[in-house]
Amino acid sequence: MGLLSAGEPMTWEEMKAWQDHVRHHGVKQFIRLYNRLKDEKGRVLKWGDEVEYIIVKLDHKEKKARLSLRADELLKQLAEPENAMMAEVAEKGSSDIELHSHWCPEYASYMVEGTPGIPYMGGMSYFNTVEHNMRLRRKELENLLQEDEIAVSLSTYPRLGCPDFTVPPFSPHPNSPDSFTKSLFWPNEATFLGHPRFSRLSANIRERRGEKVAINIPVFKDVNTPDPFVEDFSSLGDDGSSAAAAKPDHVYMDAMGFGMGLSCLQITFQADNICEARSLYDQLATLCPIMLALTAASPSHRGYLVDRDCRWDIIAASVDDRTPEERGLDPLKKNKFVIPKSRYDSIDSYLSKCAQKSPEFNDIKVIYDEAIYKELVDGGVDPLMAQHVAHLFIRDSVSMFRNKVHDDGEYEDEDIDHFENIQSTNWQTMRFKPPPPGASIGWRVEFRPCELQITDFENAAVACFVVLLTRAILSYKWNLLMPISLVDENMKRAQKRDAVLTQKFYWRKDIFTLCEEDAKPVIEELSIDEILNGIPGTEYQGLLALVREYLRGQDDVEADTSCTLSNYWQLLSGRASGKLETNAHWIRQFIRTHPDYKGDSVVPESAVYDLMVSINRIQAGELKEPRLFGRVERKSKTKDINRSYTADSGTKIG
Ligand code: ADP
Ligand code: MG
Ligand code: MG
Ligand code: MG
Repeated sequence: MGLLSAGEPMTWEEMKAWQDHVRHHGVKQFIRLYNRLKDEKGRVLKWGDEVEYIIVKLDHKEKKARLSLRADELLKQLAEPENAMMAEVAEKGSSDIELHSHWCPEYASYMVEGTPGIPYMGGMSYFNTVEHNMRLRRKELENLLQEDEIAVSLSTYPRLGCPDFTVPPFSPHPNSPDSFTKSLFWPNEATFLGHPRFSRLSANIRERRGEKVAINIPVFKDVNTPDPFVEDFSSLGDDGSSAAAAKPDHVYMDAMGFGMGLSCLQITFQADNICEARSLYDQLATLCPIMLALTAASPSHRGYLVDRDCRWDIIAASVDDRTPEERGLDPLKKNKFVIPKSRYDSIDSYLSKCAQKSPEFNDIKVIYDEAIYKELVDGGVDPLMAQHVAHLFIRDSVSMFRNKVHDDGEYEDEDIDHFENIQSTNWQTMRFKPPPPGASIGWRVEFRPCELQITDFENAAVACFVVLLTRAILSYKWNLLMPISLVDENMKRAQKRDAVLTQKFYWRKDIFTLCEEDAKPVIEELSIDEILNGIPGTEYQGLLALVREYLRGQDDVEADTSCTLSNYWQLLSGRASGKLETNAHWIRQFIRTHPDYKGDSVVPESAVYDLMVSINRIQAGELKEPRLFGRVERKSKTKDINRSYTADSGTKIG
């Protein structure tokens, strides 16, 4: 979820006096970094995925599935191979230990995040190692589980925040001074407490906002769902604030964990140079809503079916630290800006040369601090990049560590801590990642919208598709840009129930048109099917055909890799056309057709138990599920490439 610094986190009150200090030095750090590295080029493609697993404990007798709060314990064991390798590197300068995985904590204490131990490289054969690596990671985790525990890669555990949803069991204490969320549903212990960042972050966001967060997602109206659907929270210790914040006909949630406790699939890649990184940042921004709809996997929250399929708006609201003034509810007095979006949301502006040539694509008003913008421009940063950074810097820091702030403002030349502080708590669809200190990593871009899928096969398919799209975009000089306000509109449509089947998305059909001033893009509203699979009888062939064409032009695609990728494309094509169900559709149907479901939108505990067991069996290949996979061959012949660590491997957290 971002940078983990060692040391004591500060409270919101303590941090107030340091906000300008962090921004002031953060901007200076960025200017130094930018001028030092803006001309560096010649980095090869390296890339990696991030998968967040949740640990589920099954009670076979009672038919209950609960979240096992053992992340801290498991992470200590999971880190052993990496620690051993690092010790060898420190001693000998290199290591023979093959490192399959890198593990790190996430927001919730039932969650762990695994990434490849060493990033994948650009060669075509690496596409045949992704699924294998995901399997190895899962195996490493599974090897440490208790007999009745399973690890699932599931975007949303359907009964998060319901009574008795954890093992060991804990209750929320909304009125206790110790509750950092004040949630009626989320116990402190469900947040990862092995690092102080997460609890402090939750409290700081709430305190900055001036009240606890309020998440309202439309309930799925089934045949027996009460109309209107209104919940009574009085027995849970509500002081009236939840009743006031909860909207009728919505599922209400009131803690950071309801968003940050969900899982996603993220993909980071290194660009040759800053220009290429900026171009990929923009081009991929247009793909965010499309991939979100295609990977939709979150139909149920806090024990209810909801009328949305994706997690995005929930996370956005779960970390929304804007004050009432910033949300436009009260006149601006103490705050500087009215800010239309949460710090977790879709990006507001493009960054590339193409966007410079066609300024009309940047058609959202980007809020930024004039003084910071001017400082960046005076420091040699070009206007679009300056606007991007100044926009990130409208946010306060919500996470500071005592040992990281100095009275004297003395920092090492390569230090980017303060910049990273603000950057890493701007959780947007795309992240532009500058090189971290040290020479081994270049400019990178992170693709962040995708929902996590239940199998390694699907997650590998999504990751490989996105990375190959970047290759095709760069080789064929595609131009997917459209007014960025349309991307925002697409984000809204993407989250609707069964968006793949029911929604159309603004999409640029003339993707081979070079980026020229005054060139008018041909934008139409297309289905995901049309966007991926093409429109028969027209010149628009669809993204999958174009990726296939790109692959045909590569001479280093081995037969096994080709076979694996072809299985992936079949899966994605089927999902796009609606012939195969999205995870969200399948999970919703699983719950709705469960014998204990009463048609009232309430997800029974037994349905969650059966769902977890089924998901685990599907992932293991023990259960065929034609509605998810059809006739797609899931036995990919993926394999490992021996990747030993060298000083240049770049495992460092970016
Ligand atoms: P964050 O959570 O901030 O996104 P992580 O460290 O969790 O950062 O993930 C970083 C991702 O970047 C991983 O998937 C990793 O494999 C990948 N990665 C590591 N080094 C490089 C590199 N040099 N270029 C591109 N990707 C990299
Ligand atoms: Mg994460
Ligand atoms: Mg991460
Ligand atoms: Mg990430």
